[in-house]
Amino acid sequence: MLTDYHVHLRPDEPGTTADKYFTPANAERYRVAAEEHGIAELGASEHIYRFTAALDVWQHDLWKGAAVDDIDAYVEFLGEQGLRRGIEADFIPGREDQIANLLQARDFDYVIGSVHFLGDLAVDHLGYDIWDHTSASPDKVWERYFRTLGECGRSGLFDILAHPDLVKVWGRRRPVPDGDLRRFYELAIEGIVEGGAAVEVSTAGLRKPVGELYPAAGFLDLCIEAGCDFTISSDAHTPADLGSHYDAAVEFLAEHGVTELTVFEGRERRKEPIG
Ligand SMILES: [Zn+2]
Ligand SMILES: [Zn+2]
Repeated sequence: MLTDYHVHLRPDEPGTTADKYFTPANAERYRVAAEEHGIAELGASEHIYRFTAALDVWQHDLWKGAAVDDIDAYVEFLGEQGLRRGIEADFIPGREDQIANLLQARDFDYVIGSVHFLGDLAVDHLGYDIWDHTSASPDKVWERYFRTLGECGRSGLFDILAHPDLVKVWGRRRPVPDGDLRRFYELAIEGIVEGGAAVEVSTAGLRKPVGELYPAAGFLDLCIEAGCDFTISSDAHTPADLGSHYDAAVEFLAEHGVTELTVFEGRERRKEPIG
């Protein structure tokens, strides 16, 4: 079985309003793309900050500008369209209770946890680029990213951890630490194991400057040794990117001896053979 749970029904740009994208016709475009890629189970995971309810969690400038949609209408829409009901929720340290309240009040099939921000600055967002606003060494930024990812896992708030080594997104366009990067992955692994979230193998990195899958092979091996579960996702923001490079992700997992994917329904999980 193949699934794609980390899917956005619209690009992140301004003007991508719910009335244009949360429509049966748009959902159908994604379902058709899933079928073309042999993806049996499709879910949507809109960014939490597009919903007004997210302002109870965090009052970041990006969120204040983007939080306009009704989260309950979104969840209902996914159910009507036969899509798995998901959301991509940022982990905001210190706001665990507010995140839990928002998530537990809705019938999600799964919740994807992400670390995009370290404090008010982002590892993958040009408007709030951490590399433009810090004098910290790349080692310090990476350390902080992976420690936060570990906390994200340990929080137990999430079913899946998105794009696990997102901090590498810019590749050589931003500073990168020298040497063996496993010293960073090790900072996250204990928290990930403790919280029990599945780890996402994301093909999105292949479409980004870094040009690699998330996570790196060294990180994947640590997760396997620690007994983690896995999902494969494209993090598509258009139907054209849905299921992109899935062959590479399937091969990557097979090479490392992973034969099962984790499937979610009503925030319960089961395993299915990959393929
Ligand atoms: Zn993300
Ligand atoms: Zn995403």
